[in-house]
Amino acid sequence: MAPRFDNERKTIDLAVADLLEAQLLRSLGFANRGGYERLWLGQAIHSRYQEEALGEDASYRREVTISHRFVHRGYEVTVHGRIDGLRRNPGGGWVIEEIKSVRRGVGLSPAAQELYQRQAALYGWLLAHKLRAEGEASPHIEVELVLIEIGSDRLERQPVELKLPVIEALVKRRLNGLIRAHQQAAAARDARRRAAAELRFPYPEMRRGQERIVERVREVLADGSHLLLEAPTGIGKTVAALFPALRHVLRHDRRLFVLTAKTLQQEMATEVLELLNQDDAFRALRLRAKAKMCANDQLVCHEEYCDYAKDYYAKLQESGVVLRLLEGHRTLLPDDVFAAARRALVCPFEVSLELAERAQVTVCDYNYAFDPYVALSAFHADADLSDVVVIVDEIHNLVARGRGYYSPLLSARDIRRAAAEAAAGGAPIHHRIAELCLVLARLIEGLVDEVEPAAAKDDWAVEQRFPEDGLWRLRPQLDQVFVDYLEFRRETHSLSPDDRFVEQYFGVLKFLNALTLSDGAFSHFVERRGEDRRWRILCKDPSRFLGAVINRCHSVVGLSATLSPHAFYRDLLGFDRDRTERLSLPSPFPPENRRVVIDSSVATTYRERPRNYPRIAERLARFADEVPGNCLALFPSYAFLAQVAGLLRCERKRVLVQARSDSDEEREAILQTLRSALLRDVLLLAVAGGVFAEGVDYPGDMLKAVAVVGPCLPAVTLEQQLLMDYYEERFERGFEYAYVVPGMTRVVQAAGRLIRSADDVGVIALFDKRFLFRTYRQHLPADWLPQDGGSLAGDPAAAAAEFFHALAGEPT
Ligand code: SF4
Repeated sequence: MAPRFDNERKTIDLAVADLLEAQLLRSLGFANRGGYERLWLGQAIHSRYQEEALGEDASYRREVTISHRFVHRGYEVTVHGRIDGLRRNPGGGWVIEEIKSVRRGVGLSPAAQELYQRQAALYGWLLAHKLRAEGEASPHIEVELVLIEIGSDRLERQPVELKLPVIEALVKRRLNGLIRAHQQAAAARDARRRAAAELRFPYPEMRRGQERIVERVREVLADGSHLLLEAPTGIGKTVAALFPALRHVLRHDRRLFVLTAKTLQQEMATEVLELLNQDDAFRALRLRAKAKMCANDQLVCHEEYCDYAKDYYAKLQESGVVLRLLEGHRTLLPDDVFAAARRALVCPFEVSLELAERAQVTVCDYNYAFDPYVALSAFHADADLSDVVVIVDEIHNLVARGRGYYSPLLSARDIRRAAAEAAAGGAPIHHRIAELCLVLARLIEGLVDEVEPAAAKDDWAVEQRFPEDGLWRLRPQLDQVFVDYLEFRRETHSLSPDDRFVEQYFGVLKFLNALTLSDGAFSHFVERRGEDRRWRILCKDPSRFLGAVINRCHSVVGLSATLSPHAFYRDLLGFDRDRTERLSLPSPFPPENRRVVIDSSVATTYRERPRNYPRIAERLARFADEVPGNCLALFPSYAFLAQVAGLLRCERKRVLVQARSDSDEEREAILQTLRSALLRDVLLLAVAGGVFAEGVDYPGDMLKAVAVVGPCLPAVTLEQQLLMDYYEERFERGFEYAYVVPGMTRVVQAAGRLIRSADDVGVIALFDKRFLFRTYRQHLPADWLPQDGGSLAGDPAAAAAEFFHALAGEPT
């Protein structure tokens, strides 16, 4: 974490890492920053060593948190740290262990050695203060670096000299530097604080509902709580949440992260920020994925393979690219960052990360906060988030994303492919990889074959515990061969971004990690998909992990058009109940601009579906033909869509069909046709939850009707059934939470495309009698339902004809 100054209370909170000079940290080199292989291996090696030490030495303690508070230049300073290992010396006194993993035969560079020794000595200094405070006048403390060789597990203990007066002086010198830098930045902070007072809502007036959002967000930020805000599409909730959030972070010197699930939402949020920043009050950055920010011809982040990684820190400083970007752009867009970084011959993605540490606002994907494998350093497990405000757009998507982060799978087919690719290499290391991969593949296949149900069809899945021991036993061998393989690839200059073995190796690590996390919120199962046999871990409830991020933040504001039931989203997203407020707003647009009709003459359950295809096609075509403009029809699946598309006969519409294989260009061509629609109005058949249902906007007159065929329930799979059982046990609402809520969320999200301003008009037609049943009807927005208690049932074609004729002032 960065040092935290509180000028009012005159306090400084900082970590041991903050007391290390930046130059010293950077001396570790570029590979350490993106050096996933060392980091991941390092974690595993540390835990293994600590486990063994715990077993052998009763006095051993691991991950010991420690802090020291003192006064320096009028500030109350608190330094926090965590000691890797602490044990009693048989001769009396204490031994601090700082554990590091090192590459085989290479050892530590002098710079790294100096850094690690300094770090370890600082822990010694912290412990000395603690023991003195506890009454030990002159505690005896030894400090050592425990260096463990990756691959061989060979261990070397290096004593570190602990001269407390020297460390004390170093700490004071570093603190003086930090205080000086803080004071120098005071002018900029004051300017931002003044700008916060001047910040104005970027539109002449607020829509109905926006004032309430602004007020509510202001309140929750003031008292450091969270808000789940449910408001219809088109109300302008993003700007209404961003405006008070910006004021707050600028006034209190906090940082704002705007997290979205889709690129389009990031672009929209960036546009709003640009509008709010007319007075150049802050810096906002939009972060783009690494693969799309790579300037090299292949994504291998290593000095020997990438000119943009080579001498990265030196070039970064010499070129001044970060400062230039910050001075020249209010909003730092990925294209601008890419161009400037490439000109300076430094990695554009790394430059984005540098900027993310300095910008007041960062707009990025959910992954950068919640995915444990790609999260920004600001969101690391032990990062202090108390000065971070987060706005999560379309937060309903985060439940499934969160589950995905902790639900890995092992595929025997993919592992065999890795074995085959390695075997083709021909070198001894390739043979070792191939052999090990085959052992792993056979382990997976053996269990799947063993438990295959007698009456199994091609694809099946059953809940099953894994023989974990077998997998853990393979782990050291995999580590060893992986390290040797990387060395081989380096020596032969053949590192490649697409390496099946490397991919599978990390897959195994993720799988083992999920195994260690598994509790009642996880299920383990095996499955067969065609020729593939797999082991899968399903995280049914990501609240523990998401909540660990959310509740460390100063405030999190979640936005969506569909956040009901509130308890479902609050609890599964891990929001602290006592700190979480709720605001639910109706549509601000005139109800007469929209007509909702339910066709109860069709049924779309799995059983009834085939019989209903012709009737759905006939009723949908008649409906679309009555709409004077483009019409979007959404289906629960591609298969369902294909069946209806084959029978559809429209007279006045040109029918376009979304295909699973559509490229970005093909999708854009469809949108372009909708925009121009010169030849004839279009009926677009697409899938609910897909890009046309939730990922794109249809401004102006682009869309006049939305039809949703069926309540879009997820397919019945073992995974969904396991979720249902879990929700039944936890909430006593299994079917509703596992099927109805996600299905109806898609329906409401899709229909929300239609009315996004006071000028939009149109018809929403829901095809299925189930929409009239209470189980489903209760998930329709309240303002869709007739205020007079009447029924929504009707013929969509007749309803459309009546609605549009009335609109045109014509008799029906
Ligand atoms: S330019 Fe590409 S390969 Fe080079 S360090 Fe950046 S992301 Fe990695």
